[in-house]
Amino acid sequence: MLEHIPSLDNLLKSLQQVPYLASKNLNRVATHFLNMDEKHLEKFCAILLASKKNVLRCKACFSWKERAKECLFCSDSKRDQSLVCVVETWQELLTIEKTGGYGGVYHVLCGVICPLEGIGPEDLTITDLVKRVDAGVKEIILATNQTPEGEATCAYIARKLKEKSVTLSCLARGIPVGSSLEFMDRLTVFKAISERRPF
Ligand SMILES: [Zn+2]
Repeated sequence: MLEHIPSLDNLLKSLQQVPYLASKNLNRVATHFLNMDEKHLEKFCAILLASKKNVLRCKACFSWKERAKECLFCSDSKRDQSLVCVVETWQELLTIEKTGGYGGVYHVLCGVICPLEGIGPEDLTITDLVKRVDAGVKEIILATNQTPEGEATCAYIARKLKEKSVTLSCLARGIPVGSSLEFMDRLTVFKAISERRPF
């Protein structure tokens, strides 16, 4: 049927290429765009194009920055530039930043090692992280997600930095604040016990 509405077919095919957009939502998103008035849609497209032009990754930490401005983190002299928190993506950086309790800088890996999806260490920013360590970083906090891929990526980075004079740490694992032991899964309880801290 869609061959009779080729423009809609094209729109749906373009939306199909957007990762994270569930296929069941494609029609809804297409309808949303088609229902937008033309001015609103033009503005939306202009913002999309302008962001592509003006938002780029910092060459040191790989978080997003405005083209015309310094990196918010790397240029901040109040932050401890020798303490680097390694995260998978920008989203995790935001989560840590929102706590307001971290005073170091970041290193965004831009993904995790995932052989099934053909993502190897060379596709990430690990070489750049090693260069930062060589340039004087003193401590690295590995804050990848606790998934098999996240843990494998951590292990790879730890191997790469083994010979370097840098302190490596990872996030504490265990029971979330405000929760009861009885509702925790076995692995969480096991990690909380095995990685216990002094009272
Ligand atoms: Zn930066």
